[in-house]
Amino acid sequence: MKNRICELFGIEYPIIQAGMIWCSGWELASAVSNAGGLGIIGSGSMYPEILREHIQKCKAATNKPFAVNVPMLYPQIEDHIQIIIEEGVKIVFMSAGNPKTWTGHLKDHGITVVHVVSSVKFALKAQEAGVDAVVAEGFEAGGHNGRDETTTFCLIPMVKEKLSIPLIAAGGIATGKQMLAAMVLGADAVQIGSRFVTSQESSAHANFKNEVVLAQEGATRLTLKELAPVRLIRNKFFNDIQEAYAKCATVDELKELLGRARAKRGMYEGDLHEGELEIGQVSGMIDQIMPAKEIVKEIWEEFIRDKTKLATL
Ligand code: NDP
Repeated sequence: MKNRICELFGIEYPIIQAGMIWCSGWELASAVSNAGGLGIIGSGSMYPEILREHIQKCKAATNKPFAVNVPMLYPQIEDHIQIIIEEGVKIVFMSAGNPKTWTGHLKDHGITVVHVVSSVKFALKAQEAGVDAVVAEGFEAGGHNGRDETTTFCLIPMVKEKLSIPLIAAGGIATGKQMLAAMVLGADAVQIGSRFVTSQESSAHANFKNEVVLAQEGATRLTLKELAPVRLIRNKFFNDIQEAYAKCATVDELKELLGRARAKRGMYEGDLHEGELEIGQVSGMIDQIMPAKEIVKEIWEEFIRDKTKLATL
């Protein structure tokens, strides 16, 4: 396909795999890139030298473009940025922070910069900061989420109306039909997370992948808005948070309850009770674990089939 995003990244299909802590390492990123989409290494759960190793392995596993996602809450962000530059990474997706902070520096090194946003206001701020494209992520998405609870169906057309740079839709997209809907609403591409969590190449623990496959409609909730809003599966840990809310817990008490490395415990170590299981609402539609290549193929073929069908209506 030829469109602004395919040309910007040099990819075949406008299908981007989200950078996801504990799930998207070099194996998943290179598999998606080799399948014609854009694979992303999620650096938020990697110590700097681990990130370097993943970038090097990804370069060895694919000669297609790939990207690194850097959440700006990460404690050693300067080290990550330095490694990204040293290793010659060509595309960076920044998230959870001010786009003015790193865009200029990355672009000075010839890097294509994308910023993840959850509102029109933040999309315009990113455009003003000089990013090459924006990911607009709606309320349905898993993991860290915006505060305004704007759904993808409302967010994409509103961002599209104001933005001139390419727009990538995220949140609630796992199939070709959903991709088509996002493109009709004005997106140039889609970013998909949850569906790739259950890919064979994802580094998520098998327990977590199976839990996502079993998840039905209503299985997830957005919570912990006082810290950083996060969508997760309703398990024992989620119920503990609810109990804390019922007792009017303070922010410090919520922080203490969250503790450290909850996400690692749930998604990487497979503790389904005490861990944080970050996934989108679309998990209710995901019913099998598949190779990343098959996921890209299935989404793309359904997109083309339904686009043709729509044109005959
Ligand atoms: P926590 O503070 O609960 O835990 C930190 C986790 O990150 C640990 O599991 C640790 O691994 C790992 N880690 C990797 N590099 C470092 C480092 N330099 N210093 C400390 N810990 C490191 O945070 P979260 O798990 O919630 O988030 C970790 C990072 O991922 C943050 O930067 C966050 O912004 C980002 N992120 C979080 C999302 C979320 O929804 N929670 C979503 C997207 C990004 P170990 O236990 O092996 O030491």
